[in-house]
Amino acid sequence: RAKQLGRGRLEIFRPGMEDSGNRLRLETDLSRAIERGELSLRYQPIVSLTSGQIVGFEALVRWQHPEAGWIPSDQLIAIAEETGLIIPIGLWVLQTACQQLCRWQKQFPDLQPLTVSVNVSSKQFIQTDLVAQITQVLQETDLPGNHLKLELTESLLMESESAAIAMLSQLQELGVQILMDDFGTGYSNLARMRNLPTDVVKVDKSLIQSLDAQNLAFVRGIVALAHSLSKTVVVEGIETQEQLAQLREMDCAYGQGYLFSPPVDIAQVENLLSQSPHW
Ligand code: C2E
Ligand code: CA
Ligand code: CA
Ligand code: CA
Repeated sequence: RAKQLGRGRLEIFRPGMEDSGNRLRLETDLSRAIERGELSLRYQPIVSLTSGQIVGFEALVRWQHPEAGWIPSDQLIAIAEETGLIIPIGLWVLQTACQQLCRWQKQFPDLQPLTVSVNVSSKQFIQTDLVAQITQVLQETDLPGNHLKLELTESLLMESESAAIAMLSQLQELGVQILMDDFGTGYSNLARMRNLPTDVVKVDKSLIQSLDAQNLAFVRGIVALAHSLSKTVVVEGIETQEQLAQLREMDCAYGQGYLFSPPVDIAQVENLLSQSPHW
């Protein structure tokens, strides 16, 4: 059975997990996943396309269910959002990612300051005092605000634009950078790119994976517009040297994708950082 998840997105449940009983079971299990230590983070390098070096990481949540194994993260996030569990999970992700980045800064003092990007879902944005939460996490972990980036989707920012603008401005006052995620999908709106206080635009991998002439022109347009608005561009989903070359030619500043590294665990990040690779 397939479940419709918004425009054009189909989520196929894993075999053996199709019925609502199993779904309910997953919801119950997810509510205990934090305390049982079943959640973890993977970190995907973000690379400067000019220097070729790692400048930061995106934190991505993973859930290893004791019986069902790894739950696809789209499915995990969908359940978390429907049940409201995204609020405690989101806080856990934020705390864990900030703590981890602080450890890496101490462990690799010779590296340039690194940043960590954390995905924020709409419920988290609307239902919690995100500004207070982030202020507290930054204090507790002693992480300067300018080492943290928040990845928000456009649809989220659409829901209550004036409230969103006020909140984003407060976050920016903490030094936190705001990134518009999944750009180029759904109802991307160029006026919104101009009006919202965001620092970075992240071009969705769907545009890069089929970089035909049309998408190439589209991406070039997004990059040019972002630059004219003094915003930085990150392109995700870079898998081939050819894609990398095309993006470099457009003066796109940052990239992320399997060509550099998939999301990896802590030990693998430490390996990468000690080798300081460049592409
Ligand atoms: P996203 O924010 O768009 O994250 C990028 C996704 O693309 C990640 O999938 C990443 O593993 C994948 N990816 C990276 N490079 C490549 C590539 O070169 N090729 C391909 N094909 N894929 C690539 P992942 O980790 O499965 O996460 C899926 C989505 O789940 C994320 O999409 C994000 O929307 C959501 N998500 C993940 N972690 C969190 C979290 O902690 N909080 C919230 N609210 N959402 C999260
Ligand atoms: Ca993201
Ligand atoms: Ca994306
Ligand atoms: Ca996303």
